[in-house]
Amino acid sequence: MVEMKPGEMSASSSPLAGKKLWIPNMSRGTARVVAGVFKALGIEAAPLPDGDARTRELALKHLTGDECYPQVVTLGNFLKVTEMEGFDPAKNALFMAASNGPCRFGQYSLIFRQVLDSQGFGEVEILSPSCENGYRGLGKEGPEVFRYFWWALIAADLLRRMLHRYRPYEKVPGTTDRVWDISIEEAAMTLGEPTRRGPKKFADLALTLGRARERFRAIKKDLSVEKPLIGVAGEIFCRLNDFSNDSMIRQIEAKGGEAWLADLSEWIFYVNFWEMEELRAFGQRFTKRMLTAKITDRVQRREEHSLVRIFKSDLAGREEPESVGSVVKAGGKYIPPHAALGEMILSIGKAEWYHKKGCAGMVDISPFSCMNATVAEAIYPKVSEALGGMPIRTFYYDGTHADMEEKVDLFMALARGFNGLS
Ligand code: SF4
Repeated sequence: MVEMKPGEMSASSSPLAGKKLWIPNMSRGTARVVAGVFKALGIEAAPLPDGDARTRELALKHLTGDECYPQVVTLGNFLKVTEMEGFDPAKNALFMAASNGPCRFGQYSLIFRQVLDSQGFGEVEILSPSCENGYRGLGKEGPEVFRYFWWALIAADLLRRMLHRYRPYEKVPGTTDRVWDISIEEAAMTLGEPTRRGPKKFADLALTLGRARERFRAIKKDLSVEKPLIGVAGEIFCRLNDFSNDSMIRQIEAKGGEAWLADLSEWIFYVNFWEMEELRAFGQRFTKRMLTAKITDRVQRREEHSLVRIFKSDLAGREEPESVGSVVKAGGKYIPPHAALGEMILSIGKAEWYHKKGCAGMVDISPFSCMNATVAEAIYPKVSEALGGMPIRTFYYDGTHADMEEKVDLFMALARGFNGLS
């Protein structure tokens, strides 16, 4: 057992001491490494269980069915936890990212609270820390933990990108998944090490990712096979959560393609970007808040660059744009960025980037009735036309697991044709 030194993170200083914290598995890998960060704080944390038929069944007992699908999946998965033997509401908590965003996401935790209260689980804490609420629930280590969250997000994003880069070309099915799994576990352990903090933890993470890169490189694969590269955009939860999108990335791979999925960190950069835009718009250009926002964005960008560099040659040709502002600008040709907040502007703008990088097409993965996706879908024909006819198609999901095979087949045929592949 590791002995804690004075000043190190300790569970006793956290309001979550003695509780198990459940992390929504928007992306399974991200949830695992974020759980690692909490372990560094001495808090027991784990990803919520994966989605299954019971997920929807449980959630829809309490929802009307008109809610956004990510809400159904997250609530249903947490209700599965409440069914576990010996579940004690006082000893469990749910982590929910805070948001006052433009659409319905901000309502999720309010509705979860109502449902849990109505089921007699009022003691379950819903943790939504942010810098605006003083990192509520994280104690004095809040700012430091938030920094580690950022590192966790980048690490998980990069390992996911490596998984998608090499899996379509592996010679032994399942190898890349196993390498990804080991690498995520190692990243979670590195971030969860309580005795290493600040720059030392970051250096450890860089070494861990370097080892992961070597593992990925050692996979037996044939990169000489030409495959259409498909950009994947859309609503953040649905596109990243395999259960919600019926493993669309694997479907693209099964049809002979390689997927390039928009990262989770793209959203964080967009939030930073948008905060600065709003401050400018409201005459707060020269304020302390603007200075903080600029420094945060710059530090996050620098840290991201330094970890991305580890995989530079592996991800050649699949580089993300230098700034999210350029994606917003590209989207702004079709829709006013100040009116179209959220994923819609990012997905529309990202199509141009994917085209520039040689993608054969783009799919938008979104929940059925998602406000962002509905607007974006109406604009895609214009975007496609401007991009020389690059196929763009929205795939909607609501948990009914409709058979998409024919639609994916058709899309891939169009993408192949666009790329001049047979
Ligand atoms: S982005 Fe779409 S799915 Fe997500 S909360 Fe907003 S409307 Fe709902």
